[in-house]
Amino acid sequence: MGFNVAIDGPAGAGKSTVAKAAAKAAGLIYVDTGAMYRAIGLYLLRKGTDLHDEKAVEEKLPGIDVSIAYEDGVQKVLLNGEDVSSVIRTQEVGAAASVTSAYGAVRAKLLDLQRDLAKKQDVVMDGRDIGTNILPDAQLKIYLSASVAVRAKRRYDELVEKGEEAVLSEVEKEIEERDYRDMHREIAPLKKAEDAVFVDTSDLTIDQAVKAVLVLIFERKVESEGKDS
Ligand code: C5P
Repeated sequence: MGFNVAIDGPAGAGKSTVAKAAAKAAGLIYVDTGAMYRAIGLYLLRKGTDLHDEKAVEEKLPGIDVSIAYEDGVQKVLLNGEDVSSVIRTQEVGAAASVTSAYGAVRAKLLDLQRDLAKKQDVVMDGRDIGTNILPDAQLKIYLSASVAVRAKRRYDELVEKGEEAVLSEVEKEIEERDYRDMHREIAPLKKAEDAVFVDTSDLTIDQAVKAVLVLIFERKVESEGKDS
């Protein structure tokens, strides 16, 4: 195994922004696993599948191929060969991913892809169960969170900036529902790994959060290189 960093946490904690920037600065490959669940959610929405019908979702899985490609170091998510990296960034697709990622067959489909990516290269992988389930031996595990109010405001600003219609109280409600589903599902629920470092980004700017994560990465890198030599 190379040098792997697992970053988990709830929606809107700043995980992808922080993980992406920290990976770049540390010369590691960024892997966004949420995008993979979103690609599956998008496929199911397009097919009109009843997302709450686990059997119906399972039956669709053989027709889904999710893969990852890198263009100028930026991750692209391919759904049956189509680059869906931008179209998966909506509230609707996020909610579909949250519902269907609770199903064992959906998680099993993505597990090998995620582990293989981390085996082949040094990664910063972000998600919900990376430290607890996908990469239990990662050299560094971080649990990134922030208060619900702060996370809702960030998501709201993001949506407005993209020109999507949004109501702050609804975004907050959606985030609370998503947290509940992600933390209470039976398989691989979102929780802090015992050996993860907790980083609260509520009062941090993006730059400050990236710096905090980079310090942890460099400390751990030095430690693990010391152990290897
Ligand atoms: O992080 P993002 O909002 O893109 O993730 C969308 C949904 O995918 C999450 O709400 C969560 O339910 C699911 N997910 C997951 N495990 C991961 C990454 C995302 O269950 N490793």
